[in-house]
Amino acid sequence: MKKRNTILLLGITAIAILIIAQIIIIRGILKQNHEMLYLRYRLLSQEALVSLRRQYKVDVYDTVRFILDEYSREVAAELPLIRDEAEMNRKKGEILDYFTMTLNQEEYLSDYLSAYFERMGVEKDFTSRIEIRNLEIISTDTFPIIRTFSFFGKQPPEQTGGGKTAARTDISPAAGSRLLVERRGLEDNYYSLFFEFFIDFSDKRKMVLQASSASLAMSLFSLVIVVAIFMLTYKNLMEEKRLSDLKTDFINNMTHELKTPLATITVAGKTLEMERIRQDDAKVLETAKLIGKQSVHLNQLINMILEISMWERTEFQLDKKKAVIEEVMNDIVYSFRIGPGNSATITQNYSFNGLEADIDLVYFITMINNLLSNAVKYSARDPVINIEGFAENGKIFVRIADNGIGISKSDQKHIFEKFYRTSSGNIHKYKGLGLGLYYVKKIAAAHGGDVTVSSKPGKGSIFTVTIPY
Ligand code: ADP
Repeated sequence: MKKRNTILLLGITAIAILIIAQIIIIRGILKQNHEMLYLRYRLLSQEALVSLRRQYKVDVYDTVRFILDEYSREVAAELPLIRDEAEMNRKKGEILDYFTMTLNQEEYLSDYLSAYFERMGVEKDFTSRIEIRNLEIISTDTFPIIRTFSFFGKQPPEQTGGGKTAARTDISPAAGSRLLVERRGLEDNYYSLFFEFFIDFSDKRKMVLQASSASLAMSLFSLVIVVAIFMLTYKNLMEEKRLSDLKTDFINNMTHELKTPLATITVAGKTLEMERIRQDDAKVLETAKLIGKQSVHLNQLINMILEISMWERTEFQLDKKKAVIEEVMNDIVYSFRIGPGNSATITQNYSFNGLEADIDLVYFITMINNLLSNAVKYSARDPVINIEGFAENGKIFVRIADNGIGISKSDQKHIFEKFYRTSSGNIHKYKGLGLGLYYVKKIAAAHGGDVTVSSKPGKGSIFTVTIPY
């Protein structure tokens, strides 16, 4: 039990470590693919910008530049007249809002990028956003509206006045999950502007997952295989342990079974050595009979073990003959009633209608006898046995129901296995080697049939043998 728990614990720990390792690897892969995707779109955006400039002489911001200059001319006249600081701040906010809104509404770069991405066969649905970093209104004086971008330590954007502009893209992955396509400066008569253009893919997660699907599938697959192998190995190990336990139980039971007749014979031998007994003919005869009976029992036990071990090596050799089933059943029950079943109340109910079937009589009798013996053996009160027999769909059914101790559901799965004995209660209370039902199953199967059980602990059991005829 302790060893079993250790193996289970070790296995589960190993699998847990494996799962954690896989999660770390997968996260690494997802992150890497995310960066790759980012880089790819950055490069594509760069290419798009280069191609845009090569293709068109006009700039995508020409319209917006014109609108902004018109607006700036008006505010440049207003700003010097404002004295109140609060009013000045409100005005600056308004100017910034107007610039941001106009830039975002009037830019055509996103349309061009979308068309370019589509041509390249990559995802084309994204959202775009222009964010103003620096803005100044140029009037008699310069009015800074916003100044968030410091050019110290960073390369300042190229700015050209008089309608000419220059653009460049930044491929450092510092801009977060959004993709920074370009930083631009625009300058005209009444304003000087510097902004950043971002795009963002709404389905980014899906795109990264798609790109990582092969690695994800392989990782999941390998994990499933490892877990399956562990479970299979563990199950096999447990099965081996169960079989080895069964064998140990069998050896204990067998020793116990063999010892009883042997002890009786030994005692009988010692008795015969006594002068007083030897002179009493009746006692000698009785002791000799006892020795004979116990020797037969011993022989039967040894034969049973030999027979079982022989079955392991060779197939069942049946000697089938036609037999009237009802007669066979009546004979078996008659012998049983006057022999081991004399304490039992047995009722029979057959509707074979004189049916003849090909059976090996010796094995068939052994099979039914084993079931009847168990019905008597595993009973806590006076045994009542009902035997039913009928033929249906080309099969003979023999049903033996008892009012015995019954068998639990978990034991029912195993009782037909070699050496299996239910472990409830005192193991030696009911003598046996765990071979009877194994024998029954083998015989039924050798006839092309089967044996099944239905039982309730404390209520009794019903064994049904089916054999095709
Ligand atoms: P054995 O009787 O030698 O132990 P069997 O193979 O005949 O071996 O039976 C296997 C186990 O099934 C028994 O140990 C017993 O617990 C259970 N069993 C068999 N027949 C009955 C029955 N009629 N009622 C209750 N338990 C039974």
